[in-house]
Amino acid sequence: MSTSASDVSVPLLDLKAQYVAIQEEIRPAVDAVLESQRFIMGPEVIGLEEEAAAYSNLPYGVGVSSGTDALLISLMAVDAGPGDEIITTPYTFFATAGVIHRVGAKPVFVDIEEETYNIDPRKIEAAVTDKTKAIIPVHLYGQCADMDPILEIARKHNLCVIEDAAQAIGSEYKGRRAGSMGQLGCFSFFPSKNLGGFGDGGMVVTGDEELCKKLKRLRMHGSEPKYYHSIVGGNFRLDALQAAVLRIKLKHLDDWTQARQRNAEHYRQLFAESGLTGDQVHLPVIRQNRHIFNQFVIRVSRRDELMAYLKERRVGCEIYYPVPMHLQECFAHLGYRKGDFPVSEQSAQSTLAIPVYPELTGEQKEYVVQQIAQFYRS
Ligand SMILES: *Cc1c(COP(=O)(O)O)cnc(C)c1O
Repeated sequence: MSTSASDVSVPLLDLKAQYVAIQEEIRPAVDAVLESQRFIMGPEVIGLEEEAAAYSNLPYGVGVSSGTDALLISLMAVDAGPGDEIITTPYTFFATAGVIHRVGAKPVFVDIEEETYNIDPRKIEAAVTDKTKAIIPVHLYGQCADMDPILEIARKHNLCVIEDAAQAIGSEYKGRRAGSMGQLGCFSFFPSKNLGGFGDGGMVVTGDEELCKKLKRLRMHGSEPKYYHSIVGGNFRLDALQAAVLRIKLKHLDDWTQARQRNAEHYRQLFAESGLTGDQVHLPVIRQNRHIFNQFVIRVSRRDELMAYLKERRVGCEIYYPVPMHLQECFAHLGYRKGDFPVSEQSAQSTLAIPVYPELTGEQKEYVVQQIAQFYRS
């Protein structure tokens, strides 16, 4: 039986396809937690912490309630607060900038590189002042930021580096894993991330034993011993149920990453054969040695029209992200203006993520590229 093109539909992400492939493994792991009735901390959380740390080539992991909370608790652990400036990229998910504001510090934005969409290290030093406390590079879409020059600037000015690796677990920079290069690395287990739970979750990894102890304390309202508080933390715990699910999924992560990388390669071949020009569709540039393709983001002309066209033809696509942080209404008080970060602003208007999830079939990829080619011919 042949399927006509009109039968094909391609969601941006298909978590059901992943679930059916692993449900035989997941169900018993969830059942075991239900049997134990041990939902807070316990062996599943400790097990995942050890495994996620080892996956990042680091000694310590601290499971937390979300990727956002991983970033927040990291800033709390380095005592970032009022009077401090934190340098980051305006082209990211809101959480990166939101947590800086929430600890009372001031976000200071630096524009991105056009090719990788990551913070441009050549522009960081001009933003450093005597108030600068930390740099938060974001490894956007699954490719590491250019870390060597960032780490060098941090060393020179005695700044902390907190990696926002929410989209980049397992990604590498010169053989080093995302999250392992700064003082602290933050992961998100939001369902749409490459390692996604059945709800919210996150992890901070570190090579610093003292910071690990502080994170663990902050995660439990700052108490040590129980009911004695010399610092104020919060409830930032990771659920045992999520940890049990994530431990099963972590075993499959490298296979899923390889499938995403194969999809990216296949797209490259299909786009090359499509006759589309570089002005119409510009493909992702791979600069670092292990891109894990949380997203496959193309830079296109007539982006909004293309997006509407694809959605009409059942091709899932999304804009990550339509409004850079410096132009968000809640940050108006920082005094940034349109035009301050032209590369971020231009990217927000011209990029589009297309499906790249591991279970994507050859037929689906062909359909996606066919539809894009058809749009530019019409
Ligand atoms: C997803 C994401 C976060 C936040 O993670 P949550 O688990 O959703 O709180 C932070 N930064 C980036 C870059 C992200 O993609």
